[in-house]
Amino acid sequence: MARYESVLDTVGGTPLIRLTRAAAGLRPRIYVKPEWQNPGGSVKDRAALWMLRRAEADGSLRPGGTVVEVTSGNTGIGLALVAARLGYRTVVFTSSGTSREKRDQLAAYGAEVRLVDAFVPREHPDSMRSRGARFAAETPGAWFVDQYDNPANPAAHIATTGPEIWADTNGEVTHFVATVGTGGTISGTGRYLREASDGRVRVIGADPATSLYAGGDGSQKAVEGAGHVLHPDAAADVWPQALDTDVIDRFIAVHDQDAIDAVRRLARTEGILAGGSSGVALVAAFRVAEDLTEDDTVVVLLPDSGRAYLSTYFNDQWLCANGFRGPAPAEGPVVGDE
Ligand code: PMP
Repeated sequence: MARYESVLDTVGGTPLIRLTRAAAGLRPRIYVKPEWQNPGGSVKDRAALWMLRRAEADGSLRPGGTVVEVTSGNTGIGLALVAARLGYRTVVFTSSGTSREKRDQLAAYGAEVRLVDAFVPREHPDSMRSRGARFAAETPGAWFVDQYDNPANPAAHIATTGPEIWADTNGEVTHFVATVGTGGTISGTGRYLREASDGRVRVIGADPATSLYAGGDGSQKAVEGAGHVLHPDAAADVWPQALDTDVIDRFIAVHDQDAIDAVRRLARTEGILAGGSSGVALVAAFRVAEDLTEDDTVVVLLPDSGRAYLSTYFNDQWLCANGFRGPAPAEGPVVGDE
């Protein structure tokens, strides 16, 4: 389809792209799914559309209402564009760790952005979640989206992402690798692929090494969007309802530096510009692929584009200031660098 009646109809339907140079030496076929081809630039447009449509259907959101969410950026962007099209007000609580580009994109859609310290415990009255929930409770006509515990978040991926991967690989997918923020992407897509393949498809959660999902201590990390540290429930050991751990065969912990190296290499070897959490997924996928054969097909979901991180992961000054290694020697000199 190349003609649509609304931007909402352009959510989903992203392609698969095979990696060759970046996956040299690995036996299985490795495909990435570039989710920045969604209209708001990330995988979260899918969940945003599904959650908002469900809220309209069950009456939690009515004409003239306000959409309220707590987000590292991408869910807010998805909600803001859907709400703009459907005529709702959007208020997003986000942390100062969210990139400038994402905050500016939220504002461009007309969303109101409120900055909060992300690393205050969930129960604290100043936590992102407490502030969002309180604001929603105090605002007439407001609907608190609550992506972490909203069943329409994984449902979006059961309905769209899973079937797309199954159809586009002709049912040949054997491994699915994704990062885990709320867990909506991996749970919904993983559930669909497991059921479609009668349990054959293996589902791998890729996670920043500090994240609690991967057995880390929940401390702050550099990669935006992925990992349990963003879920303020971490301290209480309550996992999001959007996360279905039964679907996930294993978690692989990835260090930020390796994730950053991976996306920088991907840009220069494949011409594919992906964000930091994509790097986490890629490193995990390459690690899984080392033990696989020519008969395997690995699909790696890339949540958002490197365009939102040109001032961070792709910026040498930022890398040095944040304690990361600069460009790997293999990247070579860049024409135009000072
Ligand atoms: N990567 C990025 C950049 C994200 O914004 C998100 C969503 N927070 C994720 C990964 C994880 O997606 P999900 O919430 O579906 O687990």
